[in-house]
Amino acid sequence: DLGYMTSEKAYRIVLAGDAAVGKSSFLLRLCKNEFKLNTSATLGVDFQMKTLIVDGEAVLLQLWDTAGQERFRSIAKSYFRRADGVLLLYDVTCEKSFLNVREWVDMIEDLSHEDIPIMLVGNKSDLRTEDVTCVPTSYGEKLAMTYNTLFCETSAKDGSNTVEAVLHLARQVIKQA
Ligand code: GDP
Repeated sequence: DLGYMTSEKAYRIVLAGDAAVGKSSFLLRLCKNEFKLNTSATLGVDFQMKTLIVDGEAVLLQLWDTAGQERFRSIAKSYFRRADGVLLLYDVTCEKSFLNVREWVDMIEDLSHEDIPIMLVGNKSDLRTEDVTCVPTSYGEKLAMTYNTLFCETSAKDGSNTVEAVLHLARQVIKQA
């Protein structure tokens, strides 16, 4: 029965965060189970569909990549207006991308609504080694508490936590739909 493919509602999830934090790579890992060291600026697609099993039910997600769009451009804004949930990524090796999270949250809540489900994602966790200065996990957790969002760390490179991040967000989205 492919009925749900065409008729059932697809939840819209938008990926947000500074350039180069790994949004395209996250989608590539999630939807094709691949990783590329040098991603091109555009993958040539605006969104990917992904079916996840959430608590025994097939849930269809439409995942939008805002790559190539500057933060305040009108096209990107329309994505957020129609979003059911947001994956907000920063790069654990890039403090600036973490400091910019506040601005992203403000923009997202301003465009959609204050209790839109957001999953804050510290990506590139595979680079957390002794000789690389990283944003501590506890900082991410604290920021997520401040904004009342979900939180996890992921690696689009080795795939850790990517599916889990989307699953947790999807649960929250369904709960609030
Ligand atoms: P975007 O601009 O946010 O879409 O970021 P990209 O997906 O283009 O990724 C930017 C760069 O970071 C690319 O060179 C990726 O290969 C790399 N990258 C993305 N995710 C990860 C990750 O989890 N670990 C590592 N080590 N590199 C990553």
